Amino acid sequence: MVMTPTAYYPTTNIKTSSWRTSKPVIDYSKCTRCMICWKFCPDVAIDINENPDYEAPADRIKKMEAPFIDYDHCKGCGICANECPFDAIEMVREGEDK
Ligand code: SF4
Ligand code: SF4
Repeated sequence: MVMTPTAYYPTTNIKTSSWRTSKPVIDYSKCTRCMICWKFCPDVAIDINENPDYEAPADRIKKMEAPFIDYDHCKGCGICANECPFDAIEMVREGEDK
């Protein structure tokens, strides 16, 4: 029998964040929805909420698509926080939830 390595089990079902020591938290009152964080995340752990009702720095931004963190897959590398041009992402140590 030929064994073929296949991605039979959807990789999205595999949670890969157990070793994270800190996590990104988005301050939506500063977030302009530029989506730079989404573009830079190496783990595709930032998703898009198409119907958000989050805070926003301006009313016209409030209904725009917004990023949210998939904490089941975020590994806490901090790249998103480093790249956000509006300083809207803070890395918070696990267990010290805001
Ligand atoms: S990079 Fe910052 S401002 Fe832009 S969408 Fe992400 S959190 Fe919001
Ligand atoms: S901390 Fe790293 S893995 Fe987590 S959302 Fe930000 S860029 Fe992605």
